[in-house]
Amino acid sequence: MNIILLGPPGAGKGTQAKRLEDKHGLVQLSTGDMLRAEVKSESELGRRAKAIMEAGELVPDDLVIGIISGRIEEPDCTNGFILDGFPRTVAQAEALDEMLEAKNMGLDAVIEMKVDDQALTERIVGRYTCAECGEGYHESFKRPAKEGVCDKCGSTEFTRRKDDNADTVKSRLKAYHEQTAPILPYYDDRGMLKQVDGMADIDEVTRQIEAVLAEAKSTG
Ligand code: AMP
Repeated sequence: MNIILLGPPGAGKGTQAKRLEDKHGLVQLSTGDMLRAEVKSESELGRRAKAIMEAGELVPDDLVIGIISGRIEEPDCTNGFILDGFPRTVAQAEALDEMLEAKNMGLDAVIEMKVDDQALTERIVGRYTCAECGEGYHESFKRPAKEGVCDKCGSTEFTRRKDDNADTVKSRLKAYHEQTAPILPYYDDRGMLKQVDGMADIDEVTRQIEAVLAEAKSTG
């Protein structure tokens, strides 16, 4: 099963992708995570992407298309994947279609997570993750049971994304509305777009996504 999770930054794509990974044995392909790894390793690509990401803008299409095209050929993707943060422009959506066709692959569902902009800033600015295992937390909505200690692995080190600040969030939302939102009609015109309520609590969003996937499976 190959799925796209669409939605603005902070919509909960990463959280839901992790749940789908565990439940369905799919791999989460997050271009944001891949780019952050490139920046961390100071690769040529990472050097090109760093300032753009810190400004909350989109990195050039050819860079992300190249990354994804290589990644979906890896053996762990044959079971299926969840695209999280890709495609983010119509050019990327078109390139994805071409890529999948060439590899004899397809898409089973494109799921939009709908969330109000106001809620997004609050969600993004308060979030942080365990530096050791990557478990996500939030200052207001999800603090560790014991302050300063990760519930999952016991680590006491946490990190925050550099672009998770109020200023950069504004640019990221602008990029979403101007460059990414046009891919919603792209998939809707192909009869593939389904929506879930990203404002609902995490378990309810998961239930809605599972319902979409069950329907996609039955109509095959
Ligand atoms: P994310 O983790 O999905 O919020 O992505 C973080 C940042 O990485 C974005 O603000 C962009 O600068 C960059 N990025 C991630 N995915 C893409 C993409 N598909 N196209 C262009 N830029 C991307």
